[in-house]
Amino acid sequence: MTIEQFDLDDPAPDEISVRIAATGICRTDLHIRDGDYPIPSFPVIPGHEGAGIVTAVGSAVTDVAIGDHVLLTYPFCGQCENCRRGMMAYCEQGFVLSFGGTRLDGSTGWRRSSDGTSVNGHVFQQSSFASHTLAAARSAVILDRDLPLDLAAAFGCGVSTGAGSVLNAMELHPDSQLVILGAGTVGLSALMMAHHLGVEQIIAVDTNADRLAIASALGARHTVNASELETRDAIQQLTEGGAGYIFDTTGHPNVVADALDALAMTGTVVMAGAAPAGARTSLDMNVLLNGRGVRGTIQGDADTHQLVPHLIDLYRQGRFPVDSLVSTYPFAEIQRAIADMDGGRVIKPILRMPTNEVP
Ligand SMILES: [Zn+2]
Ligand SMILES: [Zn+2]
Repeated sequence: MTIEQFDLDDPAPDEISVRIAATGICRTDLHIRDGDYPIPSFPVIPGHEGAGIVTAVGSAVTDVAIGDHVLLTYPFCGQCENCRRGMMAYCEQGFVLSFGGTRLDGSTGWRRSSDGTSVNGHVFQQSSFASHTLAAARSAVILDRDLPLDLAAAFGCGVSTGAGSVLNAMELHPDSQLVILGAGTVGLSALMMAHHLGVEQIIAVDTNADRLAIASALGARHTVNASELETRDAIQQLTEGGAGYIFDTTGHPNVVADALDALAMTGTVVMAGAAPAGARTSLDMNVLLNGRGVRGTIQGDADTHQLVPHLIDLYRQGRFPVDSLVSTYPFAEIQRAIADMDGGRVIKPILRMPTNEVP
């Protein structure tokens, strides 16, 4: 990734201009960088966990105002059948809105300052790896102004996905047995939410001992280091025969197949890990037949306008300690932040934009 100078158009009718204060880095940004999703052409400006201050609003925007502090969340069209029934995470236009590199009409508001040529931006309709950006107004969640924006950025995609998955894709009760595969942002956010709901039997699995220590501190009763133990056997032993829910955040085909084998009868694997396009897995059909299921979730099925304020409330009450996942970096050190995330040295890197900039 390189940092370059661009000019931005005024917001389209349903857009807002935002001075980004901070943005999280999510693994999906790295999939975009690596070409795992079909972005039409590079260069492109990634970033989809932006928090900032609204500096202009499009002509059709009525519910966001200049000066509002906002968290930018995933995009949706607001008109398709899934959007109309409140399942915006499954918007029929969601993929193209996230990875098309343009607005829905194919236009882009980003131009290279050096020669005026158009470039792809509008990733997740927000391209938040930028000091200023254009964003879809309907995806902006308005924040209390006393919430630090670099903390607000932590409630973006990954944290919402983990917490939302537990709330929306599982029916947990205190006696449930929940296994979480991958103690990164998504997995640990699921853990915090399950712990908040009173689930006592939470097992966290990872290959990174530091992350497993954090999982224990956040409420995991057991941890399994997958580089030392055979995960399926360890889960079956700890759960005495199989787990009710296994939450996969890894997106590895073999991990998902093994997870199914470690479920109790009638248990469910909930999958939130993004796999490279076209990845397939194979499942034991007779294992599945015993009432077991595998389901995927995008963004934890969440309506972020409901979920994000709820999570911020819980955070303020000390029940959802998202700050324990965060490390901050100056924007200029984006490469170091990504390297630290890739190396497992940090969980949720947050980039802070320079504050001396004129909005
Ligand atoms: Zn839609
Ligand atoms: Zn994401």
